[in-house]
Amino acid sequence: MASKNALRKPEDHPSFSTMGQKVATITVSPKKKAYTIRLDLLVHYSEYFRAAFTGSFKEAEEKKIHLSDVEESTFDYFMDWLYYTKITTSQEHKDPKDDPHPYYIFVELYILGDKYQIPNLRKYVIDHNFQYFLRVDDVLPVPHIITQAYESLPETSPLRRFFSDLYSIRLSSYFQAITVEMREKPSCLPNGFLVEALIKASDIRDVAKKGKSPALKLCDYHEHPDNEDRKKCEEKHGITNIKG
Ligand SMILES: [Zn+2]
Repeated sequence: MASKNALRKPEDHPSFSTMGQKVATITVSPKKKAYTIRLDLLVHYSEYFRAAFTGSFKEAEEKKIHLSDVEESTFDYFMDWLYYTKITTSQEHKDPKDDPHPYYIFVELYILGDKYQIPNLRKYVIDHNFQYFLRVDDVLPVPHIITQAYESLPETSPLRRFFSDLYSIRLSSYFQAITVEMREKPSCLPNGFLVEALIKASDIRDVAKKGKSPALKLCDYHEHPDNEDRKKCEEKHGITNIKG
């Protein structure tokens, strides 16, 4: 399971010089907007599309598939990532709060990466969102985005854990954590989220009691298969911890 749905090394991004000419057509959203994509590129990153397009299903024969639950805008971002390994932006944004790609856009991309088994895309989103919340240190994910993540992602999802950990570590110092939405609608956050955030808050308090400063580490949210892999990543990524 782990090996089939494992991270690909960034240097393994397929080259157009060696890619085959076959393409697949993916239509998305109820409007069925069509995207034509190099098959080798798609199946390189996604176990789901590898199974669909190279197995014995009708989709493999026709090289066509429809994803009714994916928005066009999300798939546009996915195409950017698939071809360029990053989300491109046309503007320079000096104010970090004026991020052209705030964390909530990436949540839908992460859900796509989860549903269609694209571990590298999930890692890309984690890296982006971790850095977003590092830069913008007085913001927390809003309730309806948390609810979306909790309704669409499995319990073990690192993005869910990142959101609840973020609340836990910032709650004591962040005066805007209680939003208007929360005051008006106390049921706006999923129970699972609240319990996880409370447990983490208790863990953080224990760490602080021992005289250490609690922090969130990027690699806690990567899906490293083992410690060695994690160590290599930690030496390379150079992204600092999120502190309370
Ligand atoms: Zn890592």
